[in-house]
Amino acid sequence: MTDNSPRPVRTRFAPSPTGSLHIGGLRTAMFNWLFARHHNGRFILRVEDTDQKRYDPQALRILMEGMRWAGLDWDEGPDVGGPYGPYIQSERLTLYQKWAQWLVDNDKAYPSYETPAELEAIRKDLESRKLPPGYNRQHRDLTPEQRAAFEAQGRKPVIRLKMPLEGETIVNDAIHGDVRFENARQQDTVLLKSDGFPTYHLAHVVDDHFMEISHVLRAAEWMPSVPVHWQLWQAFGWEPPVYAHLPVMLNPNGKGKMSKRNPPRDAKGNIIPVLVDDYIQAGYLPEAILNFLANIGWNFGDEREIFTMNDAIERFDLSRINQANSAFPPEKLDWLNGIYIRELPVERLAALLREPLERAGFKVDDDRLMKIAPLVQIRMKTLNDVVELAGFFFHDEFEPAPADQLPQKGMTAEQTRAALEQAGAALSALENFTHEEQEAAMRALAERIGVKPSALFNVLRVATTGQAVATPLFETMEILGRNESLRRIQLAAAQLAALIGSPVQPE
Ligand code: GLU
Repeated sequence: MTDNSPRPVRTRFAPSPTGSLHIGGLRTAMFNWLFARHHNGRFILRVEDTDQKRYDPQALRILMEGMRWAGLDWDEGPDVGGPYGPYIQSERLTLYQKWAQWLVDNDKAYPSYETPAELEAIRKDLESRKLPPGYNRQHRDLTPEQRAAFEAQGRKPVIRLKMPLEGETIVNDAIHGDVRFENARQQDTVLLKSDGFPTYHLAHVVDDHFMEISHVLRAAEWMPSVPVHWQLWQAFGWEPPVYAHLPVMLNPNGKGKMSKRNPPRDAKGNIIPVLVDDYIQAGYLPEAILNFLANIGWNFGDEREIFTMNDAIERFDLSRINQANSAFPPEKLDWLNGIYIRELPVERLAALLREPLERAGFKVDDDRLMKIAPLVQIRMKTLNDVVELAGFFFHDEFEPAPADQLPQKGMTAEQTRAALEQAGAALSALENFTHEEQEAAMRALAERIGVKPSALFNVLRVATTGQAVATPLFETMEILGRNESLRRIQLAAAQLAALIGSPVQPE
């Protein structure tokens, strides 16, 4: 088990462009990136689009945007080029065809001519005889004449790997150690389809070879295919990369892989996003997401859970990657995100808060945003929390809360109304409408009228913001300004008066 290989370190992230980037994919990319950066190697982005038969620039754009958002920069790839390109598999088809043919010519692979209906019949026959499912290898040893006869019928073959029929394939994995596979249980896997497109198995081995990939860090789901890949490397006579199969990120309840089709939920039953785009929309910071993902299946050491990517680059090695799969802990993500939000310079936070506010339909004023950012900073788990906490600052028109929400515990409506009147009077008499002066005056008032300060503050908060949970009261009123604050307090008092049917007190 070693990170070391004599070759220069070159890792790759090789997603299939489906139009979205899975959070687990981002984690795989991150581990490859950390490993490359730790070793001063190169990190390559390769697009594995042979299944789709078409290059989809939209999907690629989304993928690259997600990676860029996270700060995982690549040294070679479809957009930046590099000495081993092209980096999109559908642009490399002739290479795969050439090497598939090389395998056939060297008796390591063979053309297999069955029609889909014939394959289905074989599958059913094997099933009915309780034999391992798949393909019965009937075209493995055709004579040249038999092949020519099939060709003459116009049949287009697939190319299959000639798996050894006996013995074991032993693969040394940097995380799992020696993993043994019985060859007799493996299939003669299809390498090239009849339309000339390679399967993943062939394409990635050819690419990993020609792109001189030294280490393959990929999801453990690929482990069952490793014997096929290993035999392919042997068949070609090429030096395989070091394999490291990463533990899979499971649903929070520890059951099953996180998937959009069956959305994961947190302990409260809320749906947890699966796609990186959804995390961006939900108001998570890239630095928090990466720190969080790095803690799933790897550990920094020293029990440390909070670290920058620069620290992680310095520390990263494969020996602290777990073999066992790990559950996704959603509460840890919110916790970390809150920490990273609190560490942001206020200007950056303000800039980041603009988008969720605008998405919620608010027109955002820069000055006001700069004043509000420090007030919400310590209260947020995600950037989107700004909408609930401080959206009221940006309403075109103030929306007061219903009057019955004004009285606090132990206060009658009439007491509340009177308290509002007195608070208004005291606040209008202040020399400076600073939060310090307001607070001193309101504490004194609470004492005078015999209510708890917190109760009086809550009355004023509901009155001035229209909501029970918001930014700190006195700073909020300072930002709203004296006139607007007093207007709202008067409005609340008037609403309560109407509610209890008593006339509004003249000032
Ligand atoms: N295209 C494969 C995937 O998206 C890549 C697997 C690998 O890294 O080898 O899962």
